[in-house]
Amino acid sequence: MLTIDQATYDRIVAHAKRDHPDEACGIVAGPEGSDRAERVVEMVNAAGSPTFYEFDSTELLALYKDMWSRDEEPVVVYHSHTATEAYPSRTDIGLASEPAAHYVLVGTREHGNNEGPVEFRSFRIVDGEVTEEEVSVVPHLLPLTKE
Ligand SMILES: [Zn+2]
Repeated sequence: MLTIDQATYDRIVAHAKRDHPDEACGIVAGPEGSDRAERVVEMVNAAGSPTFYEFDSTELLALYKDMWSRDEEPVVVYHSHTATEAYPSRTDIGLASEPAAHYVLVGTREHGNNEGPVEFRSFRIVDGEVTEEEVSVVPHLLPLTKE
């Protein structure tokens, strides 16, 4: 299950709406091993396309360096689908390289009039296998407990 706080959820959805009809993409980083999606990093869709997304390799490398220096990892990898179902495409599955990440798909195809609903779905993608998981939107993430 993906647990995400309302503010983070809202930022991802706002990004997807803003970039519509192009696909939006980004990462939510969090402390390594915590499964806490804490820091939204909006990325550039280097493909600038309504049917495809691709992280900019320079930007992605810089982000990974930044995450390493903070002991973070990509907890959520998100992008939007603007004309099709919010489900990972064959290409998305091929590009999914983070077995521990939650792959979030935001669907904005109903968003044409700027008021329609968006879909927000989360998946695990491991070895080409897609498994949908539940999304729980909470007001705030619980404070970290020390173990
Ligand atoms: Zn896609």
